[in-house]
Amino acid sequence: MLMTLRILNLGAGVQSTTVYLMAASGEIPSYDYAVFADTGEEPRPVYEHLEWLKRVGGPPIITCSSGKLGDDIVMGRNGTGGRFVTIPAFLEEDGRVGIGRRQCTREYKIDAVDRVIRRELLGLKPRQRVRAGVQVVQAYGISADEAGRSVRIRRRMEKHSRWLAPEFPLLDRGMTRADCVRWLAAYGVPHEVPKSACVFCPYRNNVSWVWLQQHDPDGWRRAVEIDEALRSGAVTVRGMRAKLYLHRSAKPLREVDFSSAADAGKQLEFHTECAGMCGV
Ligand code: SF4
Repeated sequence: MLMTLRILNLGAGVQSTTVYLMAASGEIPSYDYAVFADTGEEPRPVYEHLEWLKRVGGPPIITCSSGKLGDDIVMGRNGTGGRFVTIPAFLEEDGRVGIGRRQCTREYKIDAVDRVIRRELLGLKPRQRVRAGVQVVQAYGISADEAGRSVRIRRRMEKHSRWLAPEFPLLDRGMTRADCVRWLAAYGVPHEVPKSACVFCPYRNNVSWVWLQQHDPDGWRRAVEIDEALRSGAVTVRGMRAKLYLHRSAKPLREVDFSSAADAGKQLEFHTECAGMCGV
């Protein structure tokens, strides 16, 4: 028997919210489920927005998790049991600043969604093959100005092409992020749809750090806590003596001067949001 399961990767940011609401309002074919992979570390406005989304009558929203990412960092562990940092923190060594590997996307986002699809929705045991006749469509809110991310997703899915296919409703319609913002305004979302990303994501620029300070003081304090944990000794960087920082200046977050960023807030763009598949 043929069965097709249609899943939306919901990051709860601007683009994936647009796709969700387009599906909810019948503008595009709907989804059986929208899956939100929760690192436990999103800004408060993202969780409030997610609760609002659950009330609009769209596809059922499933929240899944691979753990609380910041707690794992503080405990000096990661989703695979290794003792090294999975977020792309900045590394300073002998005056040179680089950026570390990012594994958080795979461990806390991609793998969490894959587990829901395989185990909960398809009822598979670990490593069990998807049976013939089952097709899964995974949709992503990738806009036309981020088209490169779709290439990486297609590549990642190629080895499962027998049963898994990606879908990019915004790309298919040539919609940019600005188009999404306009679409959301026309839809009548009663609040600004926030950027989705962990409060301590090192990909934030200064404007985004200032936004966090102003809109989510608890999230800001959490980011400072995680920044300090990175240099506490609990965390190791394999084979390196580097110090780790969340801010690209390689300064402790609480000591960074953001005064010019606050002035420039209207002109600068935030970092690319996680959108349920940051960095793919
Ligand atoms: S938002 Fe940043 S820290 Fe969080 S999972 Fe994505 S890349 Fe990692």
